[in-house]
Amino acid sequence: ENKSKIAIVGSGLIGQNWAMIFASVGYRVAIYDVVPEQLTRAHALIKDTLGRYEKEGHLRGKLTSTEQIQNITACSSLTDCLEGAVHVQECVPEDLNLKVTVFQELDKHCSNGMVVASSSSCLPASSFTESLEHRNNMLVAHPINPPYFIPLVEIVPAPWTDQAVVNKTRALMENIGQSPVTLKYEAPGFALNRMQYAIINESWNMYQTGLLSAEDIDRVCHTGLGLRYAFIGPLETMHLNANGMVDYCQRYADGAEKVQKETFKQIPVKYDIPTAEKIQEEFESYLPLDKIPQRRTWRDGWLAALASLKLAD
Ligand code: NAD
Repeated sequence: ENKSKIAIVGSGLIGQNWAMIFASVGYRVAIYDVVPEQLTRAHALIKDTLGRYEKEGHLRGKLTSTEQIQNITACSSLTDCLEGAVHVQECVPEDLNLKVTVFQELDKHCSNGMVVASSSSCLPASSFTESLEHRNNMLVAHPINPPYFIPLVEIVPAPWTDQAVVNKTRALMENIGQSPVTLKYEAPGFALNRMQYAIINESWNMYQTGLLSAEDIDRVCHTGLGLRYAFIGPLETMHLNANGMVDYCQRYADGAEKVQKETFKQIPVKYDIPTAEKIQEEFESYLPLDKIPQRRTWRDGWLAALASLKLAD
């Protein structure tokens, strides 16, 4: 199947992941980077990675790794990369001035109907698209690391993004096997980071009050809460843990409020260096700094296995 062309601008970690994801379902992917050696390196890395995923049984899509690699072209000019693309996924570093410059450039190449999505983790599209001619076609589509195994994409429109562009982007994300959510308006932290900060806040609080060790705090999540949350979210958890949401609140809301009153601290919580040093010292015995790359590979292996398990659902 010969699908449309996708342009990826920036060939770092996130650009490589997007390229592999789009190619896995047959899109023609053109990838560009301002640093030519980086582009060459990225293309080689993609080839190695897809070959390895195939051997390990983690390759996405129905095409072989060779077919997928053939779908990905490294372009030495931005013009070639963008030519004829229906969707552009911008993946340059998270720096406002850089995003402004890159989007001005992308605006010049925008043809009718070309959607330009930024992978930005924090910067809202309104901060770098306001003055642009094609700003109605621009928005944020924020992936989660590693996107190849974590399908969530947060779609965050600027106030001027066309609803049709939001819908089209959401449909495209579904089409490539990602799991999009749509924010109705721009809000700091989008959705995932807000949830994440709430969880870190209480982890920090429990550590500072000496309630549990760092290892045990993490264990509460990865052998407890996290197992549920990999399949159902916090709201459905409430619904299932009683006879529906209303029953849950009738039974448990007072208790939850009491726990919060007695234990939660003031927000915002500053993730302070003295506490960070203590936690890191504790990690030293089982997760020293020089073992982090190894541990990331281990994590990605399990995320891959979990991704297959979720696909089976
Ligand atoms: P990265 O530093 O790994 O890669 C960025 C690439 O962009 C580099 O190869 C660089 O040479 C290239 N680049 C710089 N200026 C450019 C230009 N003008 N034109 C073309 N290419 C250019 O960064 P990353 O981790 O891949 O992050 C990219 C974006 O994705 C950022 O906005 C980041 O916030 C977001 N993001 C990152 C993560 C993550 O965990 N790394 C997760 C989600 C979203």
